[in-house]
Amino acid sequence: MEELVIHGRFILDGEVVTGYIGISNGKISRLSKTPLSGEKRIKLKSHEILLPGMIDVHVHLRDFNQKKKETVESGTKAALHGGITTVFDMPNTDPLVMDKGTFKKRAELFRRKSYADYALGFLIAGNCKEVQQVEADFYKSFMGASTGGIYSKNFIEDYSCAKRRLSVHAEDFTLIQKFPERPNIVEEMAIKRALHVAKSLKKALHICHVSTAGGLQNILDSALSWVSFEVTAHHLFLTKEDYKKNKLLKVYPPLRSEKDVSFLWKNLDKIPVIASDHAPHTMEDKENGAAGIPGLETELALLLDAYNRGLIGLWDIVKKTSVNPAKIFGIKNKGFDIGKDADLIVVDLKEEWKVKPEEFYTKAKWSPWEGRKLRGKVRMTLLRGEVVMEEDEIIGKPKGVRINAQEG
Ligand SMILES: [Zn+2]
Repeated sequence: MEELVIHGRFILDGEVVTGYIGISNGKISRLSKTPLSGEKRIKLKSHEILLPGMIDVHVHLRDFNQKKKETVESGTKAALHGGITTVFDMPNTDPLVMDKGTFKKRAELFRRKSYADYALGFLIAGNCKEVQQVEADFYKSFMGASTGGIYSKNFIEDYSCAKRRLSVHAEDFTLIQKFPERPNIVEEMAIKRALHVAKSLKKALHICHVSTAGGLQNILDSALSWVSFEVTAHHLFLTKEDYKKNKLLKVYPPLRSEKDVSFLWKNLDKIPVIASDHAPHTMEDKENGAAGIPGLETELALLLDAYNRGLIGLWDIVKKTSVNPAKIFGIKNKGFDIGKDADLIVVDLKEEWKVKPEEFYTKAKWSPWEGRKLRGKVRMTLLRGEVVMEEDEIIGKPKGVRINAQEG
């Protein structure tokens, strides 16, 4: 007898099947086409489907001295609301997570306050000695300054120092000084350089938020198996024409031309990861020019809406938001399979809803998609077998635990 049995449609290795998922001790214990008995049961409706919880490898949760922008609590509630069960915490906080003491504080904060499972990041910028004293789940470097103002003065040294995969914000420092509007070349040159270094170091690298056709082409041409990358939802669904109409859409790297965006879509098959780069700010900070867009609560809905418009397959969504992130970042306890954590979401593929940021959990009470009707909605989120969000309500206390990448 399973503790919980979910009956309905789900995706198994790319195929939509109807069957039963048995969950015990927080893990997926059985997958079956024939009925399973369980103490509790959840039956999906005909237009609902069960998907793996999303793993978002790029999230800014602020907190510390920036609680007005977001806290671990508000941000991870937003994650569960959006169907994201694991978040990767970016370390360009205030104070920056780049020494042992702050890393310990960050870990403790997450242990107490996180509603979603999480990976802890550590910032590298000339602090290699400190890196040796921590075990982070991933490392982060900036090739040019973004929020937080810090960047790698010696990228090769910082990259060499990372003990696990290094996520890199690829915009070139010198070119940013020359072209503060950050045109394509700023990203393209940084990606070119990152790839050049990656080729010789042969160490795991993850290029964040690729937004330019040239940058993407360069990554694909170099075909380095140890280099992964992500594209954000806002770079897929917005262009610089949108930015011209709405200055709140300022983001680094900036929104690009229609041509760049269609190049991303044309190469969708080759993009391994879609992430949110959720970057909340207060309205006051946004009006003063802060760069960043909130995205946790709209990312999956935008993708489901795109699915309903025939732009992307469900299995593509699952691969880019769950299967590949788990593989790339070595998260052994995550993934839709027997023995893995039962992080699952129930999605209504047909429900149409209107984006109302005032109803979101994130403290950034605005959204680029405010007022937009999207088709496809997360109805329920389960974290390690427990229902933690249902019908827009977060259920229970913070129960997030750290992923086990640091053990590998
Ligand atoms: Zn970011």
